[in-house]
Amino acid sequence: MFRNKVPFLFLFAALHLLILKESSAQGPKYIKTIIVDAGHGGKDMGATGQYENSLRSKEKEITLAIALKLVEELKKQMPDVKIVPTRTTDIYQTPTEKAKIANEYRGDLFLCIHADSGPLKQGKRQIGERTVTRYKTTYTGKGKKRKKVRKPYEVTEPVYEYFKIPLTRSGTSVWIFAAHKTSDKLKAIMDGDENFEIETGGLDSTETTFDFRSPEGRTIAAIYAKRYQERSDRLATLVNEEVENTGRQALGVNQRQVGIWVLQATNMPAILIETGFINNPEDEIYINSEKGQQELAVAITKAVQRYKAQVESANNSGKPVIAAIDKNQPAASPEFEKRTVKDTKTIQVKNSQVKVDLYDDGEIDNDIVSVYFNKQQIVNKRSLTATAHSFTLTVEPGKYNELVLFADNLGSLPPNTALMVITDGTNRHEVRLSADLKNNASIQFELKNNN
Ligand SMILES: [Zn+2]
Repeated sequence: MFRNKVPFLFLFAALHLLILKESSAQGPKYIKTIIVDAGHGGKDMGATGQYENSLRSKEKEITLAIALKLVEELKKQMPDVKIVPTRTTDIYQTPTEKAKIANEYRGDLFLCIHADSGPLKQGKRQIGERTVTRYKTTYTGKGKKRKKVRKPYEVTEPVYEYFKIPLTRSGTSVWIFAAHKTSDKLKAIMDGDENFEIETGGLDSTETTFDFRSPEGRTIAAIYAKRYQERSDRLATLVNEEVENTGRQALGVNQRQVGIWVLQATNMPAILIETGFINNPEDEIYINSEKGQQELAVAITKAVQRYKAQVESANNSGKPVIAAIDKNQPAASPEFEKRTVKDTKTIQVKNSQVKVDLYDDGEIDNDIVSVYFNKQQIVNKRSLTATAHSFTLTVEPGKYNELVLFADNLGSLPPNTALMVITDGTNRHEVRLSADLKNNASIQFELKNNN
């Protein structure tokens, strides 16, 4: 849901415009430039290894080593894409400088590499004993002769040593900017690019440079911000899956409310990868090792390749994704068939039984939806609320398993946005889908072999 101070009429007009000209509203058609940011640098060390017997590593060095490997791997696998590192040496850059580099190179994607940390608890252990002299005060005599006497005695007490306990938490997590906190993203879009062309001519194909500072422009910038958020989410989900494929603990896709300003200040989809916990012994070794660094670079590259293929194939065909569905399934409603699928996400699952909890995403505004799975209706005109509507899907191997969200109305705050929480055994995915009266949204489920 949009939270916007712009009058509703503008929002509605802008949505119409974007519906008419979907290709322009989808942002860049091709992934041509990718910005890789090694977090921190120079005087900004980032987190440091601090637990007892830690390698005392510095986050700024780990991020640089991984980022450089990622740059090489991306260049190798995608020779036609321009890969731009924000830094290749140990230099300090403010978040503003990092964001500026990304915006100036007109990146189509912004990847930030970091390492995680957390507060360390202090432990103590006994390392010996020592003898100390103490005094006991007694009194002798009575009345005026009463006297205070201090008698020494010896006691043995333990000697302790204090140390920092390593973190037990480990794994790789992926972060995107919080959905409701789009103001910096809006600013980046509005400041970013005078040549940001979108088609505003309605049904003819006249292209004009658009003024993002006008009220309508602000609204469209809000829609771009939302799109970037959805795309960031899609890429983040793929990175999480590829990390999981390495056998490493993947902690999922998260939205941070504060502190990833640089993600919000770039005029492009952006993700931040916390590669591992610098204060967890196994993780610290892993993210310092050639093998670990290379494995992460390869996993992130695979995710970027899958993302690029998805974005570009959607741009190229312009055909409704529904056309690819198995024709043997009973047909869905004619209304359903008429709409194209615009917002598509892919999820790999390990279990054939997958639970889905369906909610309204954001403000509850009477969104009514239907849901189809492999063209069969499984939810019929249901109001989305903050309480889950749950159902289970049977995902078949080697088959195109598609869940489609169909908007029966737009609610009072268009478009119609649903949050689906998908539970696959112990894995949990949060997917946000957005549909309107011309476009469906979908999730494609791929069943992964369990061997
Ligand atoms: Zn960091």
